[in-house]
Amino acid sequence: MRSIAVMNQKGGVGKTTSSVNLAAALARQGRRVCLMDLDPQGHASLHLGVEAGPDMASVYNVFTQETTLDHARQLIVDNLSLVPANIDLAAAEMELAGVQGREFFLRNAMKHWNEQKRFDYVIMDCPPSLGVLTINALTAASEVFIPLQPHFFALQGLSKLFETTALVTRRLNRDLRVTGIMLCLYESGTRLAADVVEDLRQFLRSSDAETPWSRAAIFKTRIRRNIKLAEAPGFGQSVLDYAPGSAGAVDYIEMAQEVLAMETGAVRSDVGSVSVMEPLRAAA
Ligand code: ADP
Ligand code: MG
Repeated sequence: MRSIAVMNQKGGVGKTTSSVNLAAALARQGRRVCLMDLDPQGHASLHLGVEAGPDMASVYNVFTQETTLDHARQLIVDNLSLVPANIDLAAAEMELAGVQGREFFLRNAMKHWNEQKRFDYVIMDCPPSLGVLTINALTAASEVFIPLQPHFFALQGLSKLFETTALVTRRLNRDLRVTGIMLCLYESGTRLAADVVEDLRQFLRSSDAETPWSRAAIFKTRIRRNIKLAEAPGFGQSVLDYAPGSAGAVDYIEMAQEVLAMETGAVRSDVGSVSVMEPLRAAA
């Protein structure tokens, strides 16, 4: 089971859009996928048409140990389920402050999924902060994907984010690795986007092999700016259902192929134009 935290403490970089549509694309490929909404704003839930009201079990009730992940989980479409969140989750941050072992709630709740290999993918949509909810995701996850919008300030804040993952690997979850960097809201052909990608590549290349991001790859697929991606949440559907064939759907399907290719590390020469991973530190 691969458990992936989609994380960036900046808002509006494409965490939720990527979590939802990647989850949907992986489910289409026959993988058993669970999307976990860890943002009190509940955007991933709303994106899939789920508004977690007061009488619906949500991830908040999992944190308070009133319920289990299995009970809170809802089937959305074939192979894709969701553990929803709503504004209640904002309280968890405060309620867990000072509680012993607060970093491990999610990891403990997911333990039997790991043991039973209940899913092929658990994708966690993190809130735009580095608080206790994100730390729970990082403690429970095996991998981190970082969505980035390649503009001038994109790399600012990245060092803080990397430091946090390093801290988590030292103290809480030794196996955690940053495996993928997703370029979202991409304006192809702009000089700036190319520069940012080049800076990022250099940074990763010059990183110590001991760091949890030393083997991070920049996905070859760039998620282009596409209006269908912004419209789909309003219809409570992934872009695959809302606008199949749109650039947004095509990009996330292609990125899912790269994610699948990581399972074996195999180059998928059998799928024509589909791009493959671009390991930055192939030699490492
Ligand atoms: P985050 O979860 O990091 O805050 P979102 O995924 O919610 O970011 O994206 C922020 C906003 O940008 C949302 O309104 C979303 O619909 C829109 N958006 C995200 N990715 C794209 C894209 N590739 N093209 C167009 N709009 C996008
Ligand atoms: Mg979000």
